[in-house]
Amino acid sequence: MTMIDPKAVLKKVTPTPVVENKLTNDEKKKKIESLFTEIMQTLGLDLTDDSLRETPHRVSKMFVDEVFWGLQEENFPKITIVENKFDYDHAVVEINIVTNSHCEHHFVPIIGKTHIAYVPNRKVIGLSKLNRIVDYFAKRPQIQERLTLQIHQALCAILETQDVAVVTDAMHSCVKTRGIKDVTSMTRTSKLSGVFKEDTSHRMEFMNSIPRGHEVVY
Ligand SMILES: [Zn+2]
Repeated sequence: MTMIDPKAVLKKVTPTPVVENKLTNDEKKKKIESLFTEIMQTLGLDLTDDSLRETPHRVSKMFVDEVFWGLQEENFPKITIVENKFDYDHAVVEINIVTNSHCEHHFVPIIGKTHIAYVPNRKVIGLSKLNRIVDYFAKRPQIQERLTLQIHQALCAILETQDVAVVTDAMHSCVKTRGIKDVTSMTRTSKLSGVFKEDTSHRMEFMNSIPRGHEVVY
């Protein structure tokens, strides 16, 4: 069993644009709470109303602890990989991994599913770790294209192979509820490399084992 070093993995992953501000999580929450109070007051909301009073506090906790915890490198999932002793040499496919994120352009939810395949080289990863890796990158302000790339690059680094395929299907609240107000469209992004890119039968087998766009249940 080998413990994965998050720093080494994240070095190989397209970065999310961040600037280190040295604030602790408590300081971030205090600041967001006060700034969100101002936003609500600016909108003309009555912060003495008992339904609204705690909203700035709730939003600050939600941002730091619940929906954007993937901005902190130290929250990268703890991952151990094991040697592929049994010489398993076919694709491992996991579909319909919950992928709930927030769009970085509007800060509203992206609700999706990710489908992953890899062919083990020398390393095998616990299946639930695939879910944890998806969730870690989803818990950042995102665009779907970058999210798919980050998951793919992290898996290639961890599994020491290019034989990795990642497809993300998602509904964007910013498309559904504002702007174009398209309630039915969904977006698919994918990154395929190694055998999934070069070999038609591997690619077809993967694409045939994931849901068709209209079959995805969010
Ligand atoms: Zn958006």
